[in-house]
Amino acid sequence: MKNSNVAERIALNKYELDEGHPHIVVHEEACRAECKNLACLMVCPARVYTEVNGRIMADWAACLECGACKAACPTNALEWTYPRGGFGIIYRHG
Ligand code: SF4
Repeated sequence: MKNSNVAERIALNKYELDEGHPHIVVHEEACRAECKNLACLMVCPARVYTEVNGRIMADWAACLECGACKAACPTNALEWTYPRGGFGIIYRHG
């Protein structure tokens, strides 16, 4: 474990997917019209966000629930809550 990289450590976790109940919603209007730096693409350790033809997409099922994207978003375009009880990430190793 001592020499493993971030991606290897993230892969050790387990996710309980709450199908049909995304805990991250990108408000496209605020995101597209006002955001200049696309901070979510840079701060997310799980690479949940991608840009496709100028739109930010969130693969919320892989979220580590760190909250960095919500704090970094300069336009408050992200609606972010914790997943419902029993769902989301299950950390297996520190
Ligand atoms: Fe990525 Fe953390 Fe935001 Fe989840 S809470 S999408 S892991 S930055």
